[in-house]
Amino acid sequence: MDSQEAWHIAYNQLQLQLDRASFDTWLRGATLIQVEETGTFVIGVRNTYAREMLQNRLYRNIRRVLMDVLGEAVELRFEVRQTTPESKKPREEMPLFKLLAEQGPVEAPPLPLHEQIARPQRPALPESELNARFVFDRFVVNGSNRLAYEAARAVAENPAKYYNPLLLYGSVGLGKTHLLHAIAHTCRAHGLRVIYVPSEAFTNDLVDSIRHKTTAMFRERYRSVDVLLVDDVQFMAGKESTQEEFFHTFNALYTFNKQIVLVSDRPPRELNSLEDRLRSRFEGGLAVDVQPLELESRLAILEMWARERGVILPMDAMQAIAERARSNVRELEGLFNQAITKAHLEQRPVTMQVVEAALERHERPRQHRIRKGVTMDQVIEAVAAHFDLYPEDITGKGRSTRLNQARQVAMFLVRELTDVPLVQIGDVFGGRSHTTVLHGCNKMAEEMERDAELRALLMQLRAQLRGA
Ligand code: ADP
Ligand code: MG
Repeated sequence: MDSQEAWHIAYNQLQLQLDRASFDTWLRGATLIQVEETGTFVIGVRNTYAREMLQNRLYRNIRRVLMDVLGEAVELRFEVRQTTPESKKPREEMPLFKLLAEQGPVEAPPLPLHEQIARPQRPALPESELNARFVFDRFVVNGSNRLAYEAARAVAENPAKYYNPLLLYGSVGLGKTHLLHAIAHTCRAHGLRVIYVPSEAFTNDLVDSIRHKTTAMFRERYRSVDVLLVDDVQFMAGKESTQEEFFHTFNALYTFNKQIVLVSDRPPRELNSLEDRLRSRFEGGLAVDVQPLELESRLAILEMWARERGVILPMDAMQAIAERARSNVRELEGLFNQAITKAHLEQRPVTMQVVEAALERHERPRQHRIRKGVTMDQVIEAVAAHFDLYPEDITGKGRSTRLNQARQVAMFLVRELTDVPLVQIGDVFGGRSHTTVLHGCNKMAEEMERDAELRALLMQLRAQLRGA
């Protein structure tokens, strides 16, 4: 039998044997380039990812099929095909992401010398900040979230061993992001390479890499990790190109036995427009839902927070807060913060009276809320949480770089998302004049143009606040 024919038959058999995603991603379009004198079949594949994958993971599989067809022993080698009729097609004819997917890694243009020297060995990870407080030890476990906690722990201790991918889902403010960060902290402590990324940041990063022609680096970065943690994947719904790229990342990691954890605010079957192939992978791993916490756990959380901040919170006050915030720990946190900020400003202990006043403010009818639906307190809280600070740090007098940065972000968002007048913003943020506030906001807007990370951060905070 002619070698080409043998390859052709083997190829068709492999198409039946391998699962469709693997076949499409790695093997589709592979051709026999030549048979060397030693009998080695040289197979042309579309990119280096495919080559590695086939060489390392699917080698025996493919070899066996080919040997069955030929009736004799052969060896295989995979090479990246240089030119194919496909790539000679005018580029405009192919959708951008399809083109990228087929093209594989592209050499980035050479960097200027000083950057080459300063460049670290490994590609830099996106600076997705982890909240230092989101650790397992600070996660209160009870019936409603035990399974999610156990699964997260198992994954953190033994990545890619038990549940892969792991999907945590549930409504807002139930500790999903907390668990995701906790996994990241644990894995990093074990020396693993971890990326934690909100799905919007993934999208941003992708768009940026296309704009700056650094898709090779983008891929290298996301595909060279041991653990990939993607938050709020529901935001990928409807963004087909992001999903496409994510799917390839996902496949690459999955096949190399790397851990993937995803968080979503809805169960996998409701990730409606998320493409079927992605969805079916979610369902292949473990999907755990995170439920609202019982009163007991909410009290335990309040106790923990009070202890950490050195605040004495009487039992009746604690009960009142815990009973008010039933469905969501973020709300609990908001109430708790309001109560202690109020006490702090008035320089008195956190009594039941203070708590009641804070609760009342919280319950004020809608018209007292700011028109655009987000309050200044919410912005400050969200920014504080992001920068791993307390709200009172942001409105306080501290001057560290981190504090200043957080303050700038908070002021910018307050101005953008609420109708609070500039003068009042200035008052709250350490007694600045309204021109200083305005100047700060304009500077932020300029910086955003240049700084993709900052843009991603603001996008994330905005989405979070609007969803709150
Ligand atoms: P989600 O991502 O589900 O919307 P987060 O992880 O952001 O929610 O949680 C909101 C806040 O509630 C965070 O400050 C988090 O630390 C806290 N939190 C949520 N669940 C718990 C828990 N079980 N124990 C301690 N803190 C919790
Ligand atoms: Mg979250």
